[in-house]
Amino acid sequence: TEQTAEWLQEYVDDWVKFYRKHTNEGNVASYIPLLKEVDPDLLGITIMGRNGMKISSGDIGQQFTLQSISKLLTFIVACMTRGISYVLNRVDVEPTGEAFNSIMHLELNELKKPFNPFVNAGAITVTSMLEGKTSDLKLEPIFELLEKMLGYRPSLNVDVYESERDSSMRNRAIGYYLLEIGFLESDLNITLETYFKQCSIDVTVDDLAKIGVILASDGVDPDTREEIIPRQVARIAKALMLTCGMYDASGKFATYVGVPAKSGVSGGIVAVAPPRVREENLPFLDGCGIGVFGPALDEKGNSIAGIRLLRHIASQWDLSIF
Ligand code: GLN
Repeated sequence: TEQTAEWLQEYVDDWVKFYRKHTNEGNVASYIPLLKEVDPDLLGITIMGRNGMKISSGDIGQQFTLQSISKLLTFIVACMTRGISYVLNRVDVEPTGEAFNSIMHLELNELKKPFNPFVNAGAITVTSMLEGKTSDLKLEPIFELLEKMLGYRPSLNVDVYESERDSSMRNRAIGYYLLEIGFLESDLNITLETYFKQCSIDVTVDDLAKIGVILASDGVDPDTREEIIPRQVARIAKALMLTCGMYDASGKFATYVGVPAKSGVSGGIVAVAPPRVREENLPFLDGCGIGVFGPALDEKGNSIAGIRLLRHIASQWDLSIF
């Protein structure tokens, strides 16, 4: 296994070097003022196998905020605390084919629910389901889940939080609309404060890879064998990642990469390659989690080099679930 790791490491180093050149085809997010400050050429990746193998390359020490990746965690926490049917009675599980912060699709669902937990309307609705009277109390189970998965408690990036809070007209519009039609289960301002804070939790590619490998193991931490996320919740989360995780590029990502993934406008992506029966196999490929960070984004808001790097790795290592 060690030899395999060394051998794979050289490949991954080469691929990161190659795809870093692609960062200049994208742009860092600018609608949240503080996200503009980051170096667009950054690119880092960690791949964690269910067998404990770990490969990291590029700018791996770099911290970045979860942004939309937090929607995955809020959804998991809401299912764990309120129950799956409670959550899914209030938010649907259908892709929109529109941008994450679109206000066009709000009224179109014939079920009269937000389309899915990964567009802002659905995510804000899910956040309003979290228990607790203040944003910090609502966030506590998210931090606890992260601490269980990562082995440390990540911190809130207060500067990013304030930057988003102070430039959040679109999300406030969505919030007011949800309030008007009676979807919010908590006070609007507390819900939005919680949402902006969950988006502003700092992580690294190692952290995303760990989250990914736990999901690849149906919610069980492969290191400790502890079940952190109930199997059924992990399954639904992965189905949502595959269908809605990469915004309105989810179909292309499923086609060309073929694994459940969730991205955020900071340039992070968490990808999950579940174990798969193959005729020929590297032990490493029996399920892994991948964390990528590359803040230069494509026109859909996904990391441009990150997606290309994932596509390359998935094809080289035959990771597609299909
Ligand atoms: N905080 C961001 C927003 O709501 C998250 C969006 C994203 O990562 N796509 O606009």
